Amino acid sequence: MSGALHHHGVAALGRQLAAGAVSAVELAQALIARIGAHAELGAFLAVDPELAIAQARAADQKRANGEAGALTGVPVAHKDIFVTRSLPSTAGSKMLSDYHSPFDATVVQRLSDAGMVTLGKLNCDEFAMGSANENSAYGPVRNPWDTTRVPGGSSGGSAAAVSARLLPAATGTDTGGSIRQPAAFSGVTGIKPTYGVCSRYGMIAFASSLDQAGPIARSAEDCALLLSAMSGFDERDATSAQRPPQDFHAQMLQSREGSSASRPLQGLRIGLPREFFPEALAADVNGAVRAALAELEKLGATLVDVSLPRTELSIPVYYIIAPAEASSNLSRFDGVKFGHRAKQYTDLLDMYKKTRAEGFGPEVKRRIMIGTYVLSHGYYDAYYLQAQKLRRMIADDFQACFEHCDVIAGPVAPSVAWKLGEQANDPVAAYLADIFTLPASLAGLPGMSVPSGTGAHGMPVGLQLVGNYFAEGTLLHAAHALQQATDFHLHGPKGY
Ligand code: GLN
Repeated sequence: MSGALHHHGVAALGRQLAAGAVSAVELAQALIARIGAHAELGAFLAVDPELAIAQARAADQKRANGEAGALTGVPVAHKDIFVTRSLPSTAGSKMLSDYHSPFDATVVQRLSDAGMVTLGKLNCDEFAMGSANENSAYGPVRNPWDTTRVPGGSSGGSAAAVSARLLPAATGTDTGGSIRQPAAFSGVTGIKPTYGVCSRYGMIAFASSLDQAGPIARSAEDCALLLSAMSGFDERDATSAQRPPQDFHAQMLQSREGSSASRPLQGLRIGLPREFFPEALAADVNGAVRAALAELEKLGATLVDVSLPRTELSIPVYYIIAPAEASSNLSRFDGVKFGHRAKQYTDLLDMYKKTRAEGFGPEVKRRIMIGTYVLSHGYYDAYYLQAQKLRRMIADDFQACFEHCDVIAGPVAPSVAWKLGEQANDPVAAYLADIFTLPASLAGLPGMSVPSGTGAHGMPVGLQLVGNYFAEGTLLHAAHALQQATDFHLHGPKGY
């Protein structure tokens, strides 16, 4: 096997496996060794070599039987917010430190059915609450581009592992930006599909009306391959979209009417909301995003001005709705049914209190308190109901934009990745940095992060693309065209 195999993405590895240049077992062994050699990143919470090799052997057998697909034998790992039968499922919380699920999440099951080999579980912010992966009970994840900086969150383990070439792809979840923002901070590609495209069954719930799964990989093409396999209707998720299975890879390749090889995006209207380019936007982020937009223009796209007037309001709206739902979802962790239970207590109430005081970290407690407050009698109308009304208006604002454009673009985040510890004691600073990802989350729209060069300190910057409902194919097509014409996505962190 060539020593540089870890540099290949999903599609390339699929081809090498198909050509017999490498076996799934060899590939799994090589990456497991690499994961072991890069424990400094803190990206993995669990690795099970025996399990992975057994799955790889089954994948090789499938291939020998002529039953292999594009993903058969390709390694993957899952954000530890997805429950897995054969590996622990912690949600980055002490509350679930010994938890083993009796079943696999639908997303996990579907990628296994496609023949992917599960190497392990990836670190994340506790119950997916965070933007820096510093809220995990199992320690922070480090950004491979600069290990003194955060990788973004909450899918920080997923982004760091893919960025450091420990894996070609990983799963993530995005409630308010947790696929797009860590992908941007770590220089990789990620897509959060339309709410309802991927099943939430077996995804440990944070804010159910916002939570959505998606892939993080090194290219739009690789994301398309994973998304096709992991998405689709699931009767076990009541909010699952009832649509036929989608081939996002084929959609990605579909050529536009009137386009040509040199102008594949001919006629694509890209809307730039003026609120996504405020005067205060950091010059390095603005510069990198504008450079990517200029490339998209060269490929035939036209840029149009649009407005999302309630962009700033998306922060208070999200930080009311998400904690409200979290406070309800997390009530199940009471020491009776799942996970941690306090060792000593006097009565049932005392057991609940001690269990939750010990099991949850500070950010999770903060959200439970905010959520309980905004849902309580006398405050419900003033906060929760108002937030719901604004959520609808934010969604309507997008529809007004889509009358003038096919895709919306802007930065993923207002800055590059910050230093570990820099914002650890300032939760509001981290909330404010979610400004560009929250609107699409609240509207339930698909969003993507595409590498677009580097900014301050040589750290990666991500271009965000947001599409209308179920327009994942359009986002992937635009991102793929950009990645065919440029090499932003091919740059990796030094030393990895
Ligand atoms: N940063 C946001 C939060 O802390 C988003 C997290 C997410 O998408 N899971 O809630």
